[in-house]
Amino acid sequence: MQLGADWIVACPHCAAPIVKSQGDSPYILLPTIIKLVRELWSDGRTSFGLGRGCSDNPAKCIKCKNYFWWNEAEDVCHYVHQDRELESEHTSIPEILTAFARHPDKPTEKEYYQLISDGFAKTRSQQLSLRTAAWRRSNDAFRRHTDSDAATISMTSLERQENLEALAELAGSGLHDENNDIRDHYLIMKAEILRELGKFSSALSLLDQIDYSSLRADIAQQLRRSCWDSDSIVLQLDMISIKNNRPKNRFGLNRPPTNSTLSEQNHSDMS
Ligand SMILES: [Zn+2]
Repeated sequence: MQLGADWIVACPHCAAPIVKSQGDSPYILLPTIIKLVRELWSDGRTSFGLGRGCSDNPAKCIKCKNYFWWNEAEDVCHYVHQDRELESEHTSIPEILTAFARHPDKPTEKEYYQLISDGFAKTRSQQLSLRTAAWRRSNDAFRRHTDSDAATISMTSLERQENLEALAELAGSGLHDENNDIRDHYLIMKAEILRELGKFSSALSLLDQIDYSSLRADIAQQLRRSCWDSDSIVLQLDMISIKNNRPKNRFGLNRPPTNSTLSEQNHSDMS
């Protein structure tokens, strides 16, 4: 498996060939991924993949408009962007198939909420993926390249708030993991969700638990600044700062907020 490569899978409902991009995961603040991406948002959205192709992610067939999980779709062949080489595992598959394969349809935020209420996600992993996809979709209207259909639901909608609270709960179950890398991964994720819910004090207390020598320490610091500013909008992370200015000690990480911002945080913080 390599970045920049796609699988072509068959839609489980109508067998239409669908392009499945590789290289994304439900929440990608793992150090190996951080080193690779050029653009990273605080909700885990990246410059590539955009959450389309992770095996546990939900997808929508562009032909029959039905939803499916990537790992439930049969792989048809492997397709590499750079040299247009087709690496078919099934020699009977004609190369012309790649001409018909299309990227999946992009569900709207409202469609994601409908899938959640319909019980489309059966396992914890699927719930995490589906709710993360809905979360990212709700933030799309606030990124540099906005989608015309992304801003259909308000940032303060009850559906969005319920989704973020459920997602924070799911992320919280990873905070006791014995693996520090995984624990920090969920710490950042939960802190970011709380920040976007306006629960700045709770977000800050989670960010203070991040291993200050890890790559995520700089991400934590960028999120702290947004908390101090009482800013709850999704943040495009400064990748140069993350990759070059890796903090070596805790000194300088915990700049105290001003009295005025602290009182606002406590006022808006419910937990
Ligand atoms: Zn289909």
